[in-house]
Amino acid sequence: MRVLICGGGVIGASLAYFLARRGAEVLVVERTGLACAASGKSGGFLALDWCEGTPLDGLARASFALHAELAGTLGGEAWGYRRLDTYGGYGGAGHDAGEPALPWLSRRVSVSRRLGTARSTAQVDPAAFTAAMMHAAQSHGAGLHLGQVTGMVREEGAAEVRGIVVDGEVVTGDAVVVAMGPWSILATPWLPLPGVFGLKGHSLLFATGADVPAQALFLEYEEPDGEVLTPELFPRRDGTTYVCAISSEPPLPLDPVDVAPDPGAIERLEAMCRALSPVLARAPVVARQACYRPVTRDGLPLIGRVPGLDNAYVATGHSVWGILNAPATGQAMADLILDGVSRTIDLAQFDPARLRPFDPTRLQLGSTR
Ligand SMILES: Cc1cc2nc3c(=O)[nH]c(=O)nc-3n(C[C@H](O)[C@H](O)[C@H](O)COP(=O)(O)OP(=O)(O)OC[C@H]3O[C@@H](n4cnc5c(N)ncnc54)[C@H](O)[C@@H]3O)c2cc1C
Repeated sequence: MRVLICGGGVIGASLAYFLARRGAEVLVVERTGLACAASGKSGGFLALDWCEGTPLDGLARASFALHAELAGTLGGEAWGYRRLDTYGGYGGAGHDAGEPALPWLSRRVSVSRRLGTARSTAQVDPAAFTAAMMHAAQSHGAGLHLGQVTGMVREEGAAEVRGIVVDGEVVTGDAVVVAMGPWSILATPWLPLPGVFGLKGHSLLFATGADVPAQALFLEYEEPDGEVLTPELFPRRDGTTYVCAISSEPPLPLDPVDVAPDPGAIERLEAMCRALSPVLARAPVVARQACYRPVTRDGLPLIGRVPGLDNAYVATGHSVWGILNAPATGQAMADLILDGVSRTIDLAQFDPARLRPFDPTRLQLGSTR
C-alpha cells in the first residue's frame, strides 16, 4: 500500500516510521522543512500521567512507554531523550524566597512541589526526535519530498481519494493522511474536516552548559505590571535550556516561514528569564522563536478516517501534547490504515466525525504570500 502523508511535523514523521516499519510504501510531503514549525520549536516535555482523568490518558501512557522504547532501540541520546525531575513553583518581580530554592534559580522564585520524578517525566529535543523518526522511516524505505500540497485528487462524489496535488503535479496513492498541524485547516476545501486552529507560543533557548541540572520547572510568575505568566523551563541534555511562555491568538500565516514572534514578546520573556535565574541572566540566547499549537474545538486531537471517505485520514490537533503523543498516534494510525482497526488505542474518542466539518468559505488566514 502506498500512503501519502501531508506534513513533516512530529505527527507525520512518527506515522511514517510506524507505517514503513510495517512494510508500507510511504511518502511524506513537507512544504517548508522537516520540523520547521511547533515540532521543532516546542518544549519536548513528556509526562506519563498528567492526562489522567481525561480521554487522552491512554494515548499519553502508551506514548510515554513508546518514547522510552524508541530511545532504547533507535538511540535516544541522538535526540536528547532522558528522564528528569519536575517541580512546580511561583514567584515574581517583588517576591523574595530567601535562599534560592534550587541552586540555579534566583531568590524571586519559590519551589512549592514536586510534579514528577524520573519515573513519570522525561524530555526530548523535539526537532531531533522528529528528524530521527523520519530518518528511521527512510531506513525502512520511506521518502521525504519538499513541496506544497495544494489539493486532493477526487472525482465528484467519490468515496475515494486518488492522490494529492503537490506544486501542480498529481501524486497518486492508496491512502492520504492530513498531518499539517494548524495548517490542516487548509485541507477543509478538499475534505470534510473539522476546524483546526493555531494558538501561538513564544520561546527562548539559552546556552547554559552544565550549569542547570536535569530539573524541569513549571512556574507562575508575577510580572512588575501584575500580570501572571506561566513559564515552563526545560534544561536539555545538549547543554541548552528551553523556556516558553506568552501565548497569543494572531491569525496563522499561510506559510510556516512567516511565523514570527509578536512585537515585544521576546524582550519580555528574556527580561523575565534573567530575573528568575542568574544562570539564564548570563547565558547567551541561541534561539528566539514562536510557533503555533494545533487545537480543535473540543481540545482533543483528530485521529482517524475522514468522515464519508474510504481512504483519507487526518492526524492533528494535539495541542500542548503533540511531542508526547506522536508515537502512539503514529502506531495507532498505521494499524488503522493497514488493518482497518487500531489494536493499541481506542480511537473512537478522537474520531473526526464527532465535530461538524468546518465551512471553508470562513477560512481567514494571516496570509502574506
Ligand atoms: C510553545 C510550545 C511549546 C510546546 N511544548 C510541548 C511539550 O513540551 N510537549 C509536548 O508534547 N508538546 C508541546 N507542544 C505541542 C507540540 O509542539 C505540537 O502539538 C506538535 O508539534 C504538533 O505537531 P504536528 O506535526 O501536528 O504539527 P506541526 O509541527 O505544525 O507540523 C505541520 C507541518 O506541516 C507542514 N505543512 C503545512 N502546510 C503544508 C502543505 N500545504 N503541504 C505540505 N506541508 C505542509 C508545515 O510546514 C509543518 O512542518 C508545544 C507547542 C508550543 C507552541
